[in-house]
Amino acid sequence: MFPQVDCSGSPQLGAGVNVLQKFVLRLLLAGTLALSSSASADQGTCRGTSRVVEVDTANGPKIGKFQYPGTLDLGLREVVLTFDDGPDPVLTPKVLDILDAYCVKATFFLVGKAAEAHPDLTLEIVRRGHTLGNHSWSHPRSLRRMPSAKGRLEIEQGFNAIYTASAGALAPFFRYPGLSESRSLNKFLQDRQFAIFSSDVNTDDWRKHIKAETIIKGTFQRLQQRGKGILLFHDDRPVLVEALPTILEGLKLRGYKVAHVVPKGPRLEPWASDRSVAQAPVDKPSVYSGSKATPVAHSTPDALP
Ligand SMILES: [Zn+2]
Repeated sequence: MFPQVDCSGSPQLGAGVNVLQKFVLRLLLAGTLALSSSASADQGTCRGTSRVVEVDTANGPKIGKFQYPGTLDLGLREVVLTFDDGPDPVLTPKVLDILDAYCVKATFFLVGKAAEAHPDLTLEIVRRGHTLGNHSWSHPRSLRRMPSAKGRLEIEQGFNAIYTASAGALAPFFRYPGLSESRSLNKFLQDRQFAIFSSDVNTDDWRKHIKAETIIKGTFQRLQQRGKGILLFHDDRPVLVEALPTILEGLKLRGYKVAHVVPKGPRLEPWASDRSVAQAPVDKPSVYSGSKATPVAHSTPDALP
């Protein structure tokens, strides 16, 4: 079910990729994707993950310029790949193969219920070297609008389900469904020393009826404005699976590097109960490798899945 991938060769991405690669070439010719002077197509297909970025979650950092002042301390033309809403038994394995073909590592924000239903696939994501984060138990449309206790339960149950399915290989990373945050749940997460992930560059792959070409073009246009950042994808969307090889190829052609985000510090313990919030560990590390995030009032985008 999960074939090994030889990263020394060319990616085996299926016939559909060629069509999209042609599309990218058209964009390049049209000047939409202006190549950097240093970018070179002969760098080899498999550039791989450039470096590992450790995130110290001790202070509950809020990460991602889409919502917060702070984000990861990435270099110019450096991106982080994140995938929400999986694991999907059909599409997530395809995404894993595509990532393997380009030898890049990502962070998967899993839905607890889906992780519980597909523990083998959850473990396979770990085995391929990716990072796991929590995206709630059942992916409610808006945690912000739920009673706070119910919201906490969503976070806690999601954590426990992914923790169990992954045999403990879960980072203290949380991303709200729909990026629909609340102050009380932020405090709950920060008390538990979770990093709260938003994004820097959205790809719109969640939109109904969006085409792969539109995702690709929009992603690169937004990325060009920032020059770096955390990209937000959804690995349960067929159109994203269609677009992803071309996006990774486009990143390579334009000289972008892919960084892999991992948590700093010891492994997590199972989340015993809501009541244990008051018993959070006290020996906190003091350094956060990314930019400091400070609490701000902001509008929350409920539109994202
Ligand atoms: Zn989601």
